[in-house]
Amino acid sequence: MLQASDRALLKKTHNLALEFLETLKDRPVGRPVDFGALVESAGGPLASEGELPIQVIEHLAKAIEPGLVATAGPRYFGFVIGGSVPAALAADWLTSAWDQNGFSYASSPAAAAVEDIAARWLLDIFGLPRGSSVGFTTGCTMANFTGLAAARHSLFRQLDWDVERQGLMGAPPVTVVTSEESHVSIFAGLQMLGLGRDRVVRVPADEQGRMQPRELRCALAEIRTPVLVCAQTGNVNTGSFDPVLDIAECVHERGGWLHVDGAFGLWAAASPAYRELVRGIELADSIAVDCHKWLNVPYDSGLVFVRDPAAHHTAMSLSAAYYAPLPDHARDNHNWVPEASRRSRGFAIYAALRSLGRKGIADTIERCCALARRMADRLAQGSEVQILNDVVLNQVLVRFADSDALTAEVIRRVQEDGTCWLSATTWHGMHAMRTSVSNWSTSEEDIDISAAAILRLAKPTP
Ligand SMILES: *Cc1c(COP(=O)(O)O)cnc(C)c1O
Repeated sequence: MLQASDRALLKKTHNLALEFLETLKDRPVGRPVDFGALVESAGGPLASEGELPIQVIEHLAKAIEPGLVATAGPRYFGFVIGGSVPAALAADWLTSAWDQNGFSYASSPAAAAVEDIAARWLLDIFGLPRGSSVGFTTGCTMANFTGLAAARHSLFRQLDWDVERQGLMGAPPVTVVTSEESHVSIFAGLQMLGLGRDRVVRVPADEQGRMQPRELRCALAEIRTPVLVCAQTGNVNTGSFDPVLDIAECVHERGGWLHVDGAFGLWAAASPAYRELVRGIELADSIAVDCHKWLNVPYDSGLVFVRDPAAHHTAMSLSAAYYAPLPDHARDNHNWVPEASRRSRGFAIYAALRSLGRKGIADTIERCCALARRMADRLAQGSEVQILNDVVLNQVLVRFADSDALTAEVIRRVQEDGTCWLSATTWHGMHAMRTSVSNWSTSEEDIDISAAAILRLAKPTP
C-alpha cells in the first residue's frame, strides 16, 4: 500500500523530527515572534489543487519554525510542562501510524489491552485501591471534569435523584467545597457540569496555599446537603500539598466525596522520598493527574482514578445499538472518559512506564525536585532576590527587589533572552516569577546556565 513517494515522505519527516530533537538543547527556548508574519508565511488562501505531500511538510516545518517553543527541551521552566522520554515519543509515532481508534474494544483490542495494563501499573505506582477505575483523558482538566462527574452522580444518588437522566433542573441542592487555592480547571469542570463555578464554599488556605483542615471542618459543620470537597496535591504556584489524610477523614465522617486534583503533585506518590506528601491519597474518591506533565509523555495525556467504578461508569458511559458487546473481562475505553472516538493514548504511557520502571519514575521526580532546590539556591545568591515559597517539590517562586515592576521586567528579559523560559504569576497579591522543573532531560548544568542568565538579566541596566 505504501508507495515509494509515501515512503520517501515519511523518511524525510522522520529526519525533520530528528533534526529538531538534535537542536533542542541549543535552540533559543522561546523567542519573540510576530504572529502576523508567522500566519503569513505559513498561510495564504487554500489552493484548489493539492500539493505534493513532501512539499507541504517541508514548507510547514520551515514556515512555522520561528514559532516553535523548546518546551520539550531541558531549560523550559514555564507553567508545568514536561518533555517526552524517548520511548514515549517513539510509541506516540507508532500510535499515529497504527491509527487505532481508542474508543472501544471492538475498534482496537490492542488499545484496550494496553490501557488495561497501564491502568494496573499506575494504580500500583500511586498506591491506589486495586479495584479503582481508570480513564485516559486529554489532560487534567478533563480528568478533573470526569472525577467531578462521578462525584455528581454519587451525591445525587444519595438524594434519590438520577442526575444523568433527569439533569439538574428541579434537582435538590448539593454543596461543593473547594479551597481558596483550587486550580481554575476545577471551576471549569463545575461550570460544565452545571454545578456552578460561583456556587461553592471556599475554604481558606495557609501561607503556602494548603487547605486548612480546621477551616474545612467548620465549613462542613454548616452544610446540610450531600457534599463534594475538592482538594489538591501540588499547588501550581508553590507546589504545596493539601493534607489529604486529615481532609479525607473530615469529608468521609459525613459521607462526602473527596476529589483530589493531583495534576503534577500526585507523582510524588511514585517516589519513596516524597510519598509522605500525599499521605492518605488512597482514601480519595476520585483523583486527577497528568501524564504529559511529569511522566514526560507527549500531549495530550491525563488520567482519572475513581474508587467507585459504578459511579464513574454511570457518569461517563454511553451506548448505542451498533456498539459491539464486550467480551468478559475486556475493557471498553470509552466508558471512563467523556469522548468516544479518540487517540489511543495508552501506548505512550505504557512505553514511558515500562522504559523508566518504578525506579526510573522515582528518579525523575527526585531529580527534578533536587534541581528545583538547586535553582532556588543559585537564585537566592543574587542580591535582592527573594524565594517566596518553601521549595517542597519542583516549583520555585521568585521575586526581585520586592518590586512588581522589576519582577515583570526580569521575566520579560528572560523570555526574550532565550537561555531558558519562565512564566509570571501572582502570589498573595505580589508579582512573581514561577519556575517549574518537570523535564526528564534537565541537568545541573542547565540549572546553572539558566540561573546565571536570570541573575545577569536581573541586574539594573546601566
Ligand atoms: C496543569 C494543571 C491542571 C490542568 O491540566 P491540563 O492537563 O492542562 O488540562 C489542573 N490542575 C493543576 C494543579 C495543574 O497543574
